[in-house]
Amino acid sequence: MLSSGASSRARSRGERRTKLSRWHKLLWIGASFFAALHCVACSHGAAPFSSAASGTAGAVASTGTPSATPAPPASESAPPASQTGGFDGQKAYDFTAKLVAFGPRPPASDAIHHTQEYIDAQLRSFGCAVEDQDFHAQTPMGETPMKNIVAKIPGTGQGILLLLTHYDTLRKGHHELKGTGDFVGAVDAGSSSGLMLEMARILCAQKPAANSVWIAFVDGEESFVDWNTDNDNTYGSRELAARMAASGDLKHIRAAILADMVGPTNLRIKREENSTPWLADLVWKTAASLGYKDNFVSERATGISDDHLSFTHRGVAAVDIIDLNDYPYWHTTDDTMDKVSPRSLAIVGHVILETVNELQKKLH
Ligand SMILES: [Zn+2]
Repeated sequence: MLSSGASSRARSRGERRTKLSRWHKLLWIGASFFAALHCVACSHGAAPFSSAASGTAGAVASTGTPSATPAPPASESAPPASQTGGFDGQKAYDFTAKLVAFGPRPPASDAIHHTQEYIDAQLRSFGCAVEDQDFHAQTPMGETPMKNIVAKIPGTGQGILLLLTHYDTLRKGHHELKGTGDFVGAVDAGSSSGLMLEMARILCAQKPAANSVWIAFVDGEESFVDWNTDNDNTYGSRELAARMAASGDLKHIRAAILADMVGPTNLRIKREENSTPWLADLVWKTAASLGYKDNFVSERATGISDDHLSFTHRGVAAVDIIDLNDYPYWHTTDDTMDKVSPRSLAIVGHVILETVNELQKKLH
């Protein structure tokens, strides 16, 4: 028998696949159309695309090279930080570009070690107190060393507001990965990691408020082999939740806010149904009050299995801010920096920052 959690996980991943395969179908139809035109023009019998090759790689421009970061179009520029509560969308974008330039960042790779050093150094340069949490995860590919990095901003009381992002990327050779070349995870999850670095830059410089704010960069969100089998997912957030339960900190968490895939252009974030209702209400109400109704839309997204469940399963209020369903490059090698918008990062950063302010006022 499946527990409700397991069944929602299966459903959510199924949902992701359904959306993507529809999109691939459209591309395939488009590519086939052009292939047909080409054949008419050149009057050769052989199709210019092989059946498999007419998928994403042929239809969407991508170099898969992390080093060159194209400038985003002017329409995607971040507004001045003064218009977004001090959150600088351009800085968040620059942090994202830096993370993505390390290349594919699966757990225990050289690139993720460089990423960890970078996150650590940035947090310390902002004046954050940083805790590195090393651990070994039992994965289908063997015991794997991982690291969570937690910036801790002290509060005057016992409460903790937890902000979360994962910073690993899907490994090469994973069955879900589509396309050729490297998977550099610009939106998933470079964007939310860049956003949380900018969040840390701001919050670590502020005077203590009622609640502590912990900003956790967690490892190992992506599955190694199969998300739906043997808990092959969310290793870092499950470890963090277990450690906080053991230390007694978990019961002090007032709210957990997870950002994942927050940077795409045409930002349109639906309410994710596994999120705690009162907290999702607060985030969406805050977004509306800031004028972002078109970006944080009232439409509901089927429950998504993500790092927030490591906390909701333990009774902690948590919300997942994720723009998954309209992002066609999810788990494709076309999830590259040209898909990331400084403006989108500014909007989500503004909303999270303002939600934290609201929580500081409401929860002592
Ligand atoms: Zn992913």
